[in-house]
Amino acid sequence: MHSYSFTHLSDRSLVQHAKAVAARRRADTAELIACIAEIDARRIHVEDGYPSLYRWCIGELRLSEQSAYKHIFAARAARRFPAVFAAVEDGRLHLSAVVLLAAHLTEDNAGELLKAAEGQSKSAIELILARRFPKPDLATILVAIPPSPPPARAGQLSPGKVEPPSPATEAPAAPVFDVPTPAPVETPRPQITPLAPERFALQTTIDEETQALLREAHELLGHPTATSHVPDVLKAALRLYVAQLRKQKFAATDQPRPGRARSIDSRHIPADVKRAVWERDGGRCTFVSDFGHRCEERSGLEFDHVHAFARDGRATVGNIRLRCHAHNQFEAERTFGADFMSRKCGGNRQCASAWRM
Ligand SMILES: [Zn+2]
Repeated sequence: MHSYSFTHLSDRSLVQHAKAVAARRRADTAELIACIAEIDARRIHVEDGYPSLYRWCIGELRLSEQSAYKHIFAARAARRFPAVFAAVEDGRLHLSAVVLLAAHLTEDNAGELLKAAEGQSKSAIELILARRFPKPDLATILVAIPPSPPPARAGQLSPGKVEPPSPATEAPAAPVFDVPTPAPVETPRPQITPLAPERFALQTTIDEETQALLREAHELLGHPTATSHVPDVLKAALRLYVAQLRKQKFAATDQPRPGRARSIDSRHIPADVKRAVWERDGGRCTFVSDFGHRCEERSGLEFDHVHAFARDGRATVGNIRLRCHAHNQFEAERTFGADFMSRKCGGNRQCASAWRM
């Protein structure tokens, strides 16, 4: 029986072990998509009684729907461009990257495009593709969404066709799904998708009040319809809102007042200190690991005393830095001890931050 307990390992040993497992998994993934590509070419899934390779991957390989989709796409791309196998194995490309790239790869661009995508996140690759293969702007559409239809009964399929994906010799196509019983309805998240250089598509759902505000903004601006200038209205509104948020959160203003005389014993961080710290730290957590990795967090940042206030640290630009909550708490535990912080604050976020402050 395999042990899934790693409490005996040191932090560094545990990280090394996790990296070794991830490397093994990447090699397995490359081998699996090679197998799937060959099974696809021989159409073994049909012989095995499945209407599509997609259904075969779910039934025989126990992959999830999304994972089956990705593996099939990657298998077909890798069969056309075998460099993909090695790139997946050594971690230069993840499966999501291959899925994004697949539709754009040609004999002429494959080498360069695969190289450009190496080590990039999914969103970064979407930007790369938008620059190289720009799409036109989307039309602005404001539509009322009808009430959701009642969910289908168990076993009842949607009208989608049931047929296997194209064999590997054809151009890669998205697997054709027989749609499973609908999952519980979730509120879709807004999507921002790169379209072309400096152009993005935004898709979201708004409530009635927002729709009314949008219409009123257009009326006040003298625009003929409630959708004719949505991007301009959105940008103008966001500029005002972001300026207000900056003022609230980081005391940012175009017309800073000179710093007033302050008590050196005060826990309060003056606005001019917050502004200077925010600009110096680039609006990003400043924590750097022992291995040189700087934390990438930009939201929920806190002003942290380098030398803790509880140990006579002052609210000066030199003694204040930006930290995300996790690293503010990490410093608090390093300064005062995890047991002390647990006794004092339990899971209270404000309390933990206040001890550093
Ligand atoms: Zn951080």
